[in-house]
Amino acid sequence: LPARYAGSEKSVWVEYIQLALENKPLNLGQGFPDYAPPEYITKALADVARSPDPLLQQYTRGFGHPRLIAVLAKLYSRLLGKEINPQTEILVTSGAYEALFSSITGHVDEGDEVIIIEPYFDCYQPMVKSAKGICRFIPLRLKKNSDVVSSGDWVLDRDELEGLFNSKTKMIILNTPHNPLGKVFTEAELKVIADLCIKWDVLCLSDEVYEWMVYKPNKHIRIATFPGMWERTITIGSAGKTFSVTGWKTGWAYGPANLINNLFMVHQNCVYTHCTPIQEAIAMGFELELTRLNSDECFFNSLPRELESKRDFMGKFLKEVGMKPTIPEGGYFMIADWSALASKVDMNSENDKYKDYRFTKWMIKNVGLQGIPPTAFYSEPHKHLAENCVRYCFIKKDENLKKAAEILSNWN
Ligand code: PMP
Ligand code: GLN
Repeated sequence: LPARYAGSEKSVWVEYIQLALENKPLNLGQGFPDYAPPEYITKALADVARSPDPLLQQYTRGFGHPRLIAVLAKLYSRLLGKEINPQTEILVTSGAYEALFSSITGHVDEGDEVIIIEPYFDCYQPMVKSAKGICRFIPLRLKKNSDVVSSGDWVLDRDELEGLFNSKTKMIILNTPHNPLGKVFTEAELKVIADLCIKWDVLCLSDEVYEWMVYKPNKHIRIATFPGMWERTITIGSAGKTFSVTGWKTGWAYGPANLINNLFMVHQNCVYTHCTPIQEAIAMGFELELTRLNSDECFFNSLPRELESKRDFMGKFLKEVGMKPTIPEGGYFMIADWSALASKVDMNSENDKYKDYRFTKWMIKNVGLQGIPPTAFYSEPHKHLAENCVRYCFIKKDENLKKAAEILSNWN
C-alpha cells in the first residue's frame, strides 16, 4: 500500500454494512431512505431506458450531460443570484464523493494544509492525505449542557479557528447542513469563515449535499454568495440526497471556471464521464422541480416537512429511553449521548479501542438496533469527544422508527 494511504485502511461503512448484512438489525446506520423516492424520478429513468433515442445509452459529454448541466446552471444561478456558466463552472461527478475527491486532489499539493471541522464526513481526511496534504482539525464544541441540546449549540471557537490559518493553508472544508450533527451554519458563523478565507487567500470547499433538508426556522445559506467568496468557493451537491436516490451516485461541483478547471483535469483522467441515463433522468427531475420551486408540492419543500416529524419522533423516543440527543437543525442524522445507559451494556464483549464502537456493536448483536459510532468522524486526538455518542439516521419509514422506539423501550 502506498504510504499516502497508511492509516486509511479502516472504513466505518465497510465494517458496519457487513455487520448489518450478518446480524440483520433494524438499520438506522448508513444514511439512506428505506422507502420509495418520488415516483416521477424513477418513472423518468424508466422512460430514459426505453427511449427511442439510442444515444441516451451511450457515453455523454465528459464534464456533465448537456441536459443536466443546463438545468443545474439554471437552478443555481437562481439560488445564488448570479449567472453560472454550464460549460465551464459545473462538473457532474460519480456521487458527491467524486466531487470531493476531484476538488481535493485537483487543488491540494504536497505540504498544503487543509482545515477540517470535526466531526467531519470521514472521507475528507483520507482524501487530503492521498493528495499529500496535511489535515488541521478543529472540533465543534457543545457550548451548553442542558437537557435540550440543538445542533446550533455546537459551535467553533473563533480564536481557535483563526489560529489554524497560516501561509500554508490551502483550503477549509465546510459541511452545512452538517453530517453527523445536523448543524446548519448561521450567517454570522459563515461570515467568520469567509473573512478568514479572504484574509489568508484560502479556498472553501463547501459540502452542501443536505442543502434541501433544513428544518424551520433555520435557513440554508450558501457561503459562495458572500462578497469575495464566489471566486474562492467550490460547492458540492448530490442527486442521491436531493431526490432520495442514494444508489444513483450522482453529484456535482460548481464554482468559478479557473477552480473547476482543476477538477476537470482529475475527472477526465479517472472517471472521464458519468452514466448518461441517470444524468438524463436527474435532469428531468430538476426541470420539473424548477417549475414549482416555491410551492408546497416541490419535493425540495415537502421532504424537509416530512423529515421534521420523523426527527421529532426520534428525539422523543431517544429521550424517553434515557439518551441525550442533539436535535438537528438540518440533515437526516441525530447524535445522541448514551452514557446514562452504559451500565446496561456489556462493554467488554468487543475489543475495539473506542467505547462507541463497543456500544454500537453490542447493540447490533444483542438489542437488534444499528447506529454508527461517531468517533469515526474525528481525528485520533479528538475521538474521546464522541466516545459516549451514537449516530442514528431518521429518513426511515414511520413504522420502522416506531419499531426502533419499541426495541429501545423493551430493552430498557
Ligand atoms: N458528503 C456528505 C456530508 C455526505 O453525508 C455524503 C453521503 N453520502 C456524501 C458527501 C457523499 O454523497 P454521494 O452519495 O452523492 O457520493
Ligand atoms: N452519507 C451517508 C452516511 O453518512 C452514506 C455514507 C457512505 O455510504 N459512505 O451515512
